[in-house]
Amino acid sequence: MNSLIDKLSIEGRLSTQEYRSLLACADDDAVREYAASRARETALARFGNGIYIRGLIEVSNVCRNDCYYCGIRRSNRNVSRYSLSYEEIMECCRTGYALGFRTFVMQGGEISGAADEAITDTVRAVRAEFPDCAITLSLGEKRREVYQRFFDAGANRYLLRHETVTPDHYGRLHPAEMSLEGRLHCLYDLREIGFQTGTGIMVGSPYQTLDNIVADVLFIEKFRPQMIGLGPYLPQHDTPFAAFPAGSMNMTLMLLSVFRLMFPDALIPSTTALATIAPQGRELGILAGANVVMPNLSPADTRAHYALYDNKRATGTEAAEGLRALEAQLESIGYRISFDRGDYSPSGGVRPAGG
Ligand code: SAH
Repeated sequence: MNSLIDKLSIEGRLSTQEYRSLLACADDDAVREYAASRARETALARFGNGIYIRGLIEVSNVCRNDCYYCGIRRSNRNVSRYSLSYEEIMECCRTGYALGFRTFVMQGGEISGAADEAITDTVRAVRAEFPDCAITLSLGEKRREVYQRFFDAGANRYLLRHETVTPDHYGRLHPAEMSLEGRLHCLYDLREIGFQTGTGIMVGSPYQTLDNIVADVLFIEKFRPQMIGLGPYLPQHDTPFAAFPAGSMNMTLMLLSVFRLMFPDALIPSTTALATIAPQGRELGILAGANVVMPNLSPADTRAHYALYDNKRATGTEAAEGLRALEAQLESIGYRISFDRGDYSPSGGVRPAGG
């Protein structure tokens, strides 16, 4: 297996069968740790020991979609719904800016119409007040014109996980009114408009097979996103999938390493879901090749209501202490916070030597 990992590190890709063989070894500690060590080397060569921080603002938990895995799905009557006001979002940004954040990520459920206008106005205001910051949106599927308005207002990046590229599997995770085609179409729109675009999957989502994951790797190989988001599936007690077990941490780590070796320049977060599934999850993600973390800048009193899954790990606690804790956590493994804005910038295909 180590020779496959070396091959991936040098060539940036494997055959379908080779991806499959490698991923099948996710629970083999020696193989996974070798992949992590090569991925870590690659990330260090490209980014040094700086980890980019993105301030996450959970702007609303109102959602018209009904994804079977997600705690804020519209059918969940046990959620108290909120939407942050323009002024509340600006306050989150101000707090974040003072702490050194230079990327703000506005994430939320899917609502359209007036909400899209409100977001556009907020993006414009953030852009005006913080001209040196990147604005990332993660607000789900929109019509192309809406994405274009977000972009014109000053948003730079968009995160939209495709979740699974296998139509059957997509159909088991989502109600019939949602379509894989629609979601992929959104990704291509976002990229054409000029967003730095992120996609990704939940690892170990219900019914997911190894072949599904291989298909996702092949899709990402082809799509070449600038950002890749991966976290284990985690059950939420009020969803139809409450009884399904959480996804595998080992597979999540293995995939982080595989994607780092495929895409040395990619922005790959060590996600909150990974930090939730294991106490050292965040650190392990970084040691497997991730180079971004997304501390929470949302107001303390709304955080509990943005429960996509159970037991969500608080990342930013009270922003300032949270950041110091993060700093210590990173230092303990030889890393530090990078306060750079951290845009995607291709290094011209230069790969670290070795193998
Ligand atoms: N509504 C937006 C953004 C919010 S959801 C969107 O759909 O893109 C952000 C991500 O959280 C989703 O893409 C999904 O991959 C992840 N997520 C949702 N429910 C989850 C769960 N139960 N466990 C782990 N991740 C989950």
